[in-house]
Amino acid sequence: MSTSQFTSLFQHRDYLRLFTAQVSALFGTGLTTVALGLLAYELAGAAAGAVLGTALTIKMLVYVTVAPVVAAFAHRLPRRPFLVALNAVRGAIVLGLPFIDQIWQIYLLIAILQTASAAFTPTYQAIIPDILPDERDYTRALSAAQLAATMETLLSPMLAAAALTLISFHWLFVGTAIGFAVSAALVLATRIPGPATGAAGSFRERITVGLRIFAATPRLRGLLGLNLVVAAAGSMIMVNTVNYVRDTLGGTQSGVAMLLAANGFGTLLVAMALPRLLDRTGARPVMLTGAATLVLGLGAAIALSTAGAGDWRWSAALTIWLLIGAGTAAILTPTGQLLRRSARPADRPALFAAQFSLSHLAWLISYPVAGWLTAAAGFTLTWITLIGLAGAGFAVAQRMWPRRDPEQLTHLHAVGTIDPARLRDAERVDATHYRHTHPYVIDVDHPRWPTARQLAAAA
Ligand SMILES: [Zn+2]
Repeated sequence: MSTSQFTSLFQHRDYLRLFTAQVSALFGTGLTTVALGLLAYELAGAAAGAVLGTALTIKMLVYVTVAPVVAAFAHRLPRRPFLVALNAVRGAIVLGLPFIDQIWQIYLLIAILQTASAAFTPTYQAIIPDILPDERDYTRALSAAQLAATMETLLSPMLAAAALTLISFHWLFVGTAIGFAVSAALVLATRIPGPATGAAGSFRERITVGLRIFAATPRLRGLLGLNLVVAAAGSMIMVNTVNYVRDTLGGTQSGVAMLLAANGFGTLLVAMALPRLLDRTGARPVMLTGAATLVLGLGAAIALSTAGAGDWRWSAALTIWLLIGAGTAAILTPTGQLLRRSARPADRPALFAAQFSLSHLAWLISYPVAGWLTAAAGFTLTWITLIGLAGAGFAVAQRMWPRRDPEQLTHLHAVGTIDPARLRDAERVDATHYRHTHPYVIDVDHPRWPTARQLAAAA
């Protein structure tokens, strides 16, 4: 997706405001994540990883339970006041975080904070199609949202690293609160139309459609594995960085931010270089290379965790964290394009929603592993477990996603199984079959992916 395609999108003033509101809120959440890691260390010391693992697991539990429920009711709520209220709640919670002195208070505040975030996202997503009635604009907006989320994970640690050289981490929470305040102000400035009636069915229906497309499309089964690879490597970064820097490397809070920034820098480099490469090679080699890079990065981290002391470990760690950022970007950047390719326009929101849930499910597996296992068994065993998860995801992706994955498929339809109006361009091959060629996606007329044998018969 090139920047010029986004330019036309950002000419919609209300969309631009709302998008900026979403981005500020995202950055708010991102800064909180960094500050939270440091707060957990202040309160729990060596057990900080377990605290973070639990806090992030709570986040994911809230995301997979609250988001669908809110999404189902999003069309009945007064949307603008609701979004403003959610930002106010988040801002207030974040301002409370520096005053915390008990670990259970972290969990409680995180549960409330993430409930507000989990309610914000689907409400925001439900508004976009009403602001952007044009199908293509809407699809671009879905990609922009996904890209923004990716950019946030890489840019907020860098921002935090820069800030931490000047101030203590408690002030990061203030920066976060400002992010939510800006977000609320922008929502207030946006004209949000009343919800369109007859939207694309209930969330339950949409999620079922999305999951069905996922299960039936080979390249998306591959994406399922890739989600797990990203979560396994990402959990190590998110949960273990603080303890690794402070306890093993003997670094400070700016050391923590520096490693997170290296991770973000890797993501940034690849995300910028990728669009041109993607045009040439297609998504599969790029994403599988990304997955291999993440497995390699985890392997190098395991080796590093068994190495003796020495300052060289800093440069090794910086390289590994950078590598993992790069691998993550190679998987996340093309994901939106992959989803767009795999559904009719009408089914795309369902598919993006399914990816939202499925990717969070992968984090729900990997966060507790990274958090609780480290406290009990140390980095080496934890990262061996994570590399096991990542390796399994990589194997699934490689097996499920066929090397040859053209957009257009020549395939047969049996007479009587499809509306004849859809076969106007088809040719009759025998008494019972029609043949035609078009971009193949799972839909009502194409409920299953053709097998290799069926494709050979159609050729
Ligand atoms: Zn067809």
